[in-house]
Amino acid sequence: MNLRNLTILGATGTIGVNTLDVVARHPDRFRVVALTGQNQIEKLAEQCRQFRPRYAVVLDGDKAQALRTLLAGLDTEVLYGVEALNRVASLPEVDTVMAAIVGAAGLEPALAAARAGKRVLLANKETLVMAGHFFMQAVKDGGATLLPIDSEHNAVFQSMPDAYTGDLAAHGVRRVLLTASGGPFRTRDIDTLARVTPEEAVAHPNWVMGRKISVDSATMMNKGLEVIEAHWLFNARPDQIDVVIHPQSIVHSMVEYQDGSVLAQLSSPDMRTPIAHALAYPERVTAGVPWLDLPRIGTLTFEAPDTRRFPCLALAYRALEAGGAAPAVLNAANEEAVDAFLNHRIPYLAIAEVIAATLDRLGGGPADSLAALRASDAAARAAARELIARHTA
Ligand code: NAD
Ligand code: MG
Repeated sequence: MNLRNLTILGATGTIGVNTLDVVARHPDRFRVVALTGQNQIEKLAEQCRQFRPRYAVVLDGDKAQALRTLLAGLDTEVLYGVEALNRVASLPEVDTVMAAIVGAAGLEPALAAARAGKRVLLANKETLVMAGHFFMQAVKDGGATLLPIDSEHNAVFQSMPDAYTGDLAAHGVRRVLLTASGGPFRTRDIDTLARVTPEEAVAHPNWVMGRKISVDSATMMNKGLEVIEAHWLFNARPDQIDVVIHPQSIVHSMVEYQDGSVLAQLSSPDMRTPIAHALAYPERVTAGVPWLDLPRIGTLTFEAPDTRRFPCLALAYRALEAGGAAPAVLNAANEEAVDAFLNHRIPYLAIAEVIAATLDRLGGGPADSLAALRASDAAARAAARELIARHTA
């Protein structure tokens, strides 16, 4: 395999750190050209000392100055701002871009990488939720290769036929089955959900993740966003995507074929497996994960999601079916609501209420340009903030 030259967007986050862990195991295969981060300057500096990238990018000038001081004597150029993120996502000397910024901020640099025809390792699911149509078009126009990092979609990708063309029927695929752990509140007494704290919500039973996505796992909005993500990645209609709860997080997702076969990908719940898969694809490299010990695990169980406990899942299907800008509205309202919850401004159950009310108010809206989607995103945030303020008042 040729040496792969990487940009890692969101290097200081959970996915970024796991990516660097895999990269460090294979210095002969992967070279880091650019790393980006937002607030954790010390951590970014440490990563730069270890991986010696050509560029390090942060969002604002003050942080850039602080980082320059920390990196004095090192041959890493420090840049800042959104344009710099887009630039390192599309550098000619880079062939592979890990898109692991969290939230809507990840969209632009991921688009830049797609337009530049990179191998895009997409962790930032919000890109597909907000702007699936544009992003997939950019991948096509740019001649980019899209490899999913989200563990479920990576599992679906691995369980799909080789050279899948985006036509489920032509490949004999009946449906995609996304697994969900059910998060920390799967079995909690439903009447006590009103009192859930942010600390309880971010304590995921199987995965260690950023705070926002951890809350999304507790509400199952994460799975809802993943349904939308699967729609775009695999060209599957909402009725061809089902969710099944699997608390052990060993089966990461499945593909059901017309002959009754169900193919699955199994592994320890460790993001280094999908990351290593996508980094080396189509080859395979070690990821540092524990080997799957099925006798020790013993039991794999499955159950249907309870929509009363997880209203956010139904909201995501509703947004996907509404189409247009509805998924962007859903995503923006969710980001605002989760942030408010994490900052103790609204109770847990209000997350779904705020999203539902925002969808009611704004509906779908046009999605015929990126500007229209941005406008929907902004309108949804304004509406959600107003709804949140009522709680706080
Ligand atoms: P995280 O919060 O741990 O890290 C986020 C990264 O993005 C950090 O490097 C941060 O500096 C950067 N960032 C945040 N806001 C930014 C902004 N406005 N501009 C530029 N950079 C910014 O998040 P994470 O858990 O690593 O998740 C990253 C993405 O991967 C998310 O979209 C998430 O949904 C997705 N994902 C994560 C996991 C997981 O296991 N952690 C699994 C599947 C998908
Ligand atoms: Mg996932």
